[in-house]
Amino acid sequence: MNEAVVIGGGIAGITAALDIANHGIHVHLVEREPTIGGHMAMLDKTFPTNDCSMCILSPKMVEVERHPNITLHTLTEVTGVAGTAGDFTVSVKRYPRYIRAADCTGCEDCVEVCPVEVYNRFDAGIGVRKAIYKAHPQVVPNLVVRDREHCIDCGLCYDVCGKQAVLRNDEDTEEEFTIKAGTIIVATGYDVFDARKKTPYKYLSIPDVITSLEFERIINASGPTGGKIKRISDGRTPKEIVFIQCVGSRDLPLGCPSCSAVCCMYAIKNAMLIREKYPDTRVSILYMDIRAYGKGYQEYYDRAETLGVRFIRGMPGDIYSQDGTVIVQVENTETKEVLRINADLVVLSVGIRPTGTASSLAERLGITCDESGFFESADEKCGPVQTLRPGIFIAGTCKEPMDIPDSVMEGGAAAMQAVMTLMRE
Ligand SMILES: Cc1cc2nc3c(=O)[nH]c(=O)nc-3n(C[C@H](O)[C@H](O)[C@H](O)COP(=O)(O)OP(=O)(O)OC[C@H]3O[C@@H](n4cnc5c(N)ncnc54)[C@H](O)[C@@H]3O)c2cc1C
Repeated sequence: MNEAVVIGGGIAGITAALDIANHGIHVHLVEREPTIGGHMAMLDKTFPTNDCSMCILSPKMVEVERHPNITLHTLTEVTGVAGTAGDFTVSVKRYPRYIRAADCTGCEDCVEVCPVEVYNRFDAGIGVRKAIYKAHPQVVPNLVVRDREHCIDCGLCYDVCGKQAVLRNDEDTEEEFTIKAGTIIVATGYDVFDARKKTPYKYLSIPDVITSLEFERIINASGPTGGKIKRISDGRTPKEIVFIQCVGSRDLPLGCPSCSAVCCMYAIKNAMLIREKYPDTRVSILYMDIRAYGKGYQEYYDRAETLGVRFIRGMPGDIYSQDGTVIVQVENTETKEVLRINADLVVLSVGIRPTGTASSLAERLGITCDESGFFESADEKCGPVQTLRPGIFIAGTCKEPMDIPDSVMEGGAAAMQAVMTLMRE
C-alpha cells in the first residue's frame, strides 16, 4: 500500500507530511484538534532568532491543506493499527464538528452572536472563547467548530449563518473508518507540566503566578491581551517580573528527573522581549544552570545580559502573596546573598511532559514508551526515529523534549525513513 499516515499536526507532523507528499506519496494527516499547528501556533516569537512563530508556521499549514497529496483529517484519532510494514490498516474515529465544511466560509458571524463564553484552552486559560469558535484566526482548515458540551442550543448561530452551515446535534455524528497505509509516523507532541503539582509555587492560588505557556499567549499580539503584558489580578503593567526555571524538570521528587531542553531558551527569549517592549520593567531569571547548548544560543544568552536581564543562580523554596505583590525569596548561590524580590508577575517555566494519552496511543499502535513516558526509539544512536514496530516511526517532542529546529529535523528524518519503507515494501 503506497500511502502514509502521519499522526499529529504540530510542526514535526506537518514537516513529515509535506516531505512525504513532495515525494509523490499520498499522506493522511490525522489531527485530534479542530486545527493543525500544535504548540508552535501558540507561541509569539521563537528563539534564537525571535522570528514570528506564526509567520513561519502559517504558510506550512496552508500548504498542507492545499497539497494534492495530503488528506487532512481533523478532530480525528487513531483507534488501532493492524498489519505489518507495507500493509497497515489504521482504524480511526472522527468526532463531529457540527459544521458542514463545504458551506462554512470561516467568516465567524456565528461566533459574534454566540452568547456562551467558556475557558479558552488555546489561550492557556486566559480570556474566554465562545461555544462556537475558531481557536485563532489562522486555523487550518478555516472552519469554525461547535462545542456541543457548552452549546446551549439557543439557535442564534443557525439563524445568522446565511449558508446554513451550522449543523444540529443529530446532523453530524461520530464516524469510524479505516485507512490503508504502508507506513505510519507518530508526531503527537507534548503536554506542559501541570504547575499545580509544584505546590510551593501556588499556581492557581496566587493569580499573578502564571505559566510560561500562558505568558506566550499574553505577549502574543493576537492573544487575549493584544500583546500587552498585564497582571491577571488587576490588569496593571508589571514593573518586576520573575521567571522561575525548572518547574517540572530536573525534579526527582516530582518524578520529572530530566531536563526539558527548551525552558532556559524560551525564558531568555521572553525576558528579552519584555526588556525591549518595557525598558522600565525589571526581569530576573532564577535558575539552577543555564543550558544554552544550540547554535547561536550562547550568543542569545549574552544578548539578554546586555539587555539588562538579571540572571540569579538559585531556586526559591516557596513564594507567597503580600499586599498585591508576590514575594520571592531566594539565595543567590554564587554570591551567597539572600534576596527578597517583590514581584508583580511570576512566570513558571514549565517543563515538557509526555501527553496524557501517550501510553494508550502506544498500546493501540503496538509501540513502546520509555521510563519517562515518551515514545521509545529502537536505537537512540543508529535509529532515533525508528520504533520497535517496523514501519512505524516517531518524530518531535512525542519522543523527547526538543525545540522547533530539532522537531523539524526529526519530522524530515522520519519522512525519509517512511519513504524508504514504502520503496522497500
Ligand atoms: C512556553 C514554551 C515556549 C516555547 N518556545 C519555543 C521557541 O521559542 N523556540 C523553539 O524552538 N521551541 C520553543 N518551544 C518548544 C516547541 O513548542 C516545540 O519544540 C514544538 O512545538 C514541538 O512540536 P511537535 O510537533 O513535536 O509537538 P506539538 O506542537 O505538541 O504538536 C503535536 C500535535 O499532535 C496533536 N496530537 C496529540 N495527540 C494526538 C493524537 N492522539 N491523535 C492525533 N493528534 C494528536 C496535537 O493536537 C498537536 O497538534 C516552546 C515550548 C514552550 C512550552
